[in-house]
This record gives sequence, C-alpha cells and structure tokens, in this order.
Amino acid sequence: MIYPWQGQLFGHVMQQRDCLPSAWLLQGPAGIGKRDFAWHLAQALLCEGGVGDAAPCGQCAPCHWFKAGHHPDFRSLGLEEEAPSETSEEAQPPRKPSGQITVDAVRALEPFLQAGTHRQGLRVVVIEPAEALNLHAANALLKTLEEPPAGTLFLLVTPVHARLPATLRSRCRKLPFPIPSREKARSWLSAQGVEDPDLLLALAGGAPLFALRLANQEGSARPQWLKQLADPAISLPQLSESTTKWPVSEWLGWLQRWVHDLLSQKLVHQACFHVDLASLSARQAERADLAVLLAWERQIRAARRLENHPLNPRLLAESLLLPALSMR
Ligand SMILES: [Zn+2]
Repeated sequence: MIYPWQGQLFGHVMQQRDCLPSAWLLQGPAGIGKRDFAWHLAQALLCEGGVGDAAPCGQCAPCHWFKAGHHPDFRSLGLEEEAPSETSEEAQPPRKPSGQITVDAVRALEPFLQAGTHRQGLRVVVIEPAEALNLHAANALLKTLEEPPAGTLFLLVTPVHARLPATLRSRCRKLPFPIPSREKARSWLSAQGVEDPDLLLALAGGAPLFALRLANQEGSARPQWLKQLADPAISLPQLSESTTKWPVSEWLGWLQRWVHDLLSQKLVHQACFHVDLASLSARQAERADLAVLLAWERQIRAARRLENHPLNPRLLAESLLLPALSMR
C-alpha cells in the first residue's frame, strides 16, 4: 500500500520503469511510509496484470505470490524476515534492534542473483533498514552494484542515508521522500481515528506514521515525565529510575525534542514539538544558558547514534538528564 501523500512520487518512479537503475536509495525521515512504498513498488514492478504505470493489480498470479511472500524473483534483507502487514507497518512500535545486516546475508543472495529470472526478467531486492548493513555487507553489496546482474533492481530504504558508505550511495539513484504536507497528514490521521492530529504531528516532526504510533501509546507518560524534568522536588536518581522504565530510543526521542523546544523557545519564543507543554518549555528556557543547551543537544545527538548498541541505560539517563537540573 502507499499513502495519500505518495501518489505523485509513485507515478514519477513508475514512469522510469523502462530505464531502471541498478539501485534506488529511498531516503527521508522515519515514519513517513518509505518501507511500505518500497514493497508496493516492488509488487507493482513484478505485477503482470497492471496497465502501464498503474498500481499493482492485486489479482494476477505474481501479485498473489508476492502477497504470500514467495514471489520467486523477489527477496528482502532486513533485521526481520516479516513482510509489512496490511496496515501501516511503520506505525508499529520500533522493532527491538537486533543488530546488523551481515555480509553472510548479502552473500546468500548470490544464487538468486545468478540464476535466471522466473517471470518477465526483472528481479527486485528490498534492503531495509539499509543503514543496518555493516561495513563488510556494504562492501559486498557495492561489488554487486559495480557489476550489476541484468534486470536486477535493489531498493535500499533508510532514514539516515549519511550512515551508508559514500561509495555505496554513489551507486544508487536517489529517491528523496519529503515530509508530507500538514494538510494531507492531518486528514489521513483523522481518518485513522486520531483525535488530536496537530499535537501528534508536532511531536512526530510532521511524520504521519510516527504520529499514529504515538497516538497508540500516548498516555500521560510523556507530559508527566517532562514535568518531572522541571520539578525541583524530583532528584536525579528518582528521575533516572522513572526514565529507565522506557526503552532508550523512546525517552531519548522525547528528550531530544524537548531540548529542541528549549532552544527554539530561547531563540524565537516558540515550541515546535511538545506544543502542549509550551509554557513549561518557555519557563525552563528562560532559566537556561544557551551554551548549556547547545552542549546538551550535541550530547543527546551523540547518544542517539549509539542507542541501538548495548549500553547501561541508568548511567546514560543520569548523564543525559543532569543538565535539566540547572534549569529548575
Ligand atoms: Zn498483479
């Protein structure tokens, strides 16, 4: 499936079906539907019942094989083997980081790439999240792309394309995914039954599938936790304890947006993300030193790069929450 904000992009890509690259790099922020787009595109390119640039017919034999997960000319590489569900896959909670896509996984594609295709001469491989390719895996893939097997299309999907080696990126045709318009995102969220799409879109930086996931989990936890950050009665150990109840990626995301809000309050008197707590961030920003905020933001950004690696959540929380105490 694709989303209402992707129709034009899909048409644009399908128009290039007669001059396909060896690899497309689908890049853009998380939570806007790149993964679902990649699978939809793969199905459309393998479909034999559609007309021209249309969406997959859903009726032909290849479409049925694709949906059942055994189209002979399709493979996917990822951290999990499962195909996206009918509903928005990216709206599900983030998967437990299980590490990397290894060189063995890339090499295991070789028999598939060397054998003849079964149907119309096109083979499609989706790699997602592409930034999970470790260095050896990326090098092996680069070798393949330097001498690409005929009729083979790789779709690499990533929210952080800068983490892929430049050599690999240079072998891919770029397909940038912009943040959808607020209007389209809002009406799609409303159609999903989300009651406060504007707040959730603000929290999600405009990414609708991310906003939907927040809607499914957004209780009182986030605002309460942020109020604790600002509450002088809550000690650092207490704060760390309540923080480590959540996965690192979860609270780190909240904290990063909070610090962005503090910076933005400091500079332009406006909150961008936690708009429901704008008066709190305004008060905190008044007491905050700009240099401290900038250093805090850098510290969080560095921690985010490591959030998928084993680390001591308690120590991490204590070091990252410490600057909050100076603003109470
Ligand atoms: Zn079809």
